[in-house]
Amino acid sequence: MQNNTKFIFVTGGVTSSLGKGIISASLAKLLQARGYTATIQKLDPYINVDPGTLNPYEHGECYVTDDGAETDLDLGHYERFLNVPTSRANNVTTGRIYQNVIEKERKGDYLGKTVQVIPHITDEIKNRIKELGKTGQFQFVITEIGGTVGDIESLPYIEAVRQLKWELGHSCMVVHLTLLPYLSTTGELKTKPTQHSVKLLLESGVQPDVLVCRSEHALNKDIRRKIALFCNVEVDAVIEARDASSIYEVPLLMEKEHLDAIVLKKLGLDNEHTTADLAQWKQFLHRLHHPKKEIKIGLIGKYVELKDSYKSISEAFVHAGAENECKVHIEWIHSENLTEENIAEKLKGLKGILVAPGFGSRGIEGKILTIKHARENNIPFLGICLGMQCAVIEFARNVLGLKDAHSREMNPATSSPVIDLLEAQKNISHMGGTMRLGAYPCHVEEGTLASKIYHESDITERHRHRYEFNNEYTKQFEAAGMVLSGVNPAAGLVEIVELKNHPFFIGVQFHPEYKSTVEKPHPLFVAFVKASMN
Ligand code: GLN
Repeated sequence: MQNNTKFIFVTGGVTSSLGKGIISASLAKLLQARGYTATIQKLDPYINVDPGTLNPYEHGECYVTDDGAETDLDLGHYERFLNVPTSRANNVTTGRIYQNVIEKERKGDYLGKTVQVIPHITDEIKNRIKELGKTGQFQFVITEIGGTVGDIESLPYIEAVRQLKWELGHSCMVVHLTLLPYLSTTGELKTKPTQHSVKLLLESGVQPDVLVCRSEHALNKDIRRKIALFCNVEVDAVIEARDASSIYEVPLLMEKEHLDAIVLKKLGLDNEHTTADLAQWKQFLHRLHHPKKEIKIGLIGKYVELKDSYKSISEAFVHAGAENECKVHIEWIHSENLTEENIAEKLKGLKGILVAPGFGSRGIEGKILTIKHARENNIPFLGICLGMQCAVIEFARNVLGLKDAHSREMNPATSSPVIDLLEAQKNISHMGGTMRLGAYPCHVEEGTLASKIYHESDITERHRHRYEFNNEYTKQFEAAGMVLSGVNPAAGLVEIVELKNHPFFIGVQFHPEYKSTVEKPHPLFVAFVKASMN
C-alpha cells in the first residue's frame, strides 16, 4: 500500500501563526470529500519530547489522542475536520527524534559509526513520515512542518523533505504557506517576503509546488503571475487564502481556489471526474451562521488569558451550538478573581457554567464557589476533569458537611480526601506512569441523565489526570443525592457524577471536548447547550 501513498508537505514562511494547521486540515477535508483517505501529521521542531509538560500559556492546549499521546493542539483541528482519530504517530517532536536516535546509539545499533544530523536524524524523521503511509490506511499523508523556514530548528526537517522529494518523486509534493502583507500607503499587496521565503526553501534544495498566500485582500491575475514567475510555480498554483470569519469556512475557500484539484493534478491523480462532496459540511456552516438563539455560557478556568488553552472546549461549543441552532458566546472568567462577595455579580447573566480542567491548586476555591452557585441556583453545569473533582469537593463540604474535604493533590494533609491518588488507577494506567491518559471505557448507569445524553450504556472517553474520586465515600455521596452515573468497569473508578434535584448538573472525569467534531458534535456539549437554552 505504501507505494500508492502520496505525501504532501506543508511548510510555512515569512511569519508564524499563518494557520498551517487549518490549511492542512482543509486540504485533507477536500481530499476526504472526494472519497480519498487522508491523515495529517505534525512535526514540531522543539526539544520537549512531547507537549505534555508545557504550560498552556506557552503552547496552548495539550491535545490527547485515543492511544494516550499528549500532542500539539493542531491534532485537535485534524480530528475536528476529518472526524478520524489521530494517534501517537501523528505528532513527532525534535526531542522525540533525538531521544530515539540516542537510545539506538546507546544500544550500539549504529555499529560504531559517528552519529550525525545527516543521515541519522534525517533518517529518523523520514521513518516517522513514512510510518503513517505504511499502515496502509491512508492514500494521503499530509505532514505539517512546524515553525518557519529559515529557523535553525526546522533545518533537519526541511532536509528530510528534500531527500523524500528526491526518493519518492511524483508521489510527493510541497505546499508552502506564506504571507502577502498589504501596504495601505500605496494600496498594494507586497510579494517580496514571499519571494524571500521561497528562496530560503530553495537554498535548502526544496522547490515548493503550490504557494498558499495569506492575505487581507484579493490576489489579482498580475500579482499571481508575478509570484509565479519569481517563485517558479505555475500561476494556478498560486492560491489566495483570505482571512475567514470561521476556521470552518477555510475548506470552502480552498475549494474555490481549486487547491484540491491542483494537488491531485500535481500528484498525477484524476481531478476531473470527482468533486468534493461537502453537503454535510455546508449544512453545518449554514446552521452555524443562522442561529435562532444566542446564549452566554461562562467558562471558569485559570488560563483564560490565552484562549488557545481551552481550544477543544471552545470548538466543542461551536459544534454543539450549530447543532442546536444557537450561538454560544463564551464568557471567559478567571477563577482566581472569584470571591464569596463578588460571585453572584461575576456570574450574572450566564445561562450555563462550565468549570474547566486544570492542574495545581491556583484558582481552586473560585471554582468551588462557582459550583456552589450553579448548584444552588439551578444553573446548568458541566464540570470537566478538575471541574468534576471540584464539584465533588463542593458537594462534600457543603452538602455532606465534611468541612475540610479536599483533593489530596491540593492539600496532602486533608483528613477527608474525596479526590485521591488511587491504587486502582495505577493498575489501569497505560504507561506505568501516574497519569491516566487516553481512551478508557465507561459504563453508563441506566435511568440517569448521562444515559439520556449518550443513549448508550458503554462508551469510551479520553482521560488526562492523576487523581480520582475516592470510593471510600461512595455511599455517603449517593445517600445525599449525588448520582455516580458513569463507572470504569475494570477498576470501578467513578467517571461521571450528576445531581438528582437539578435541571442539569454533570461532572465528568474525562475530557469529552477532545472527541467533538463537526460531523459528530459531542452529545454532552449538545445536551449542555440545550439545557442552557431553556
Ligand atoms: N489535577 C487533576 C488531576 O490530575 C485534574 C487534571 C485535569 O483537569 N486534566 O487529577
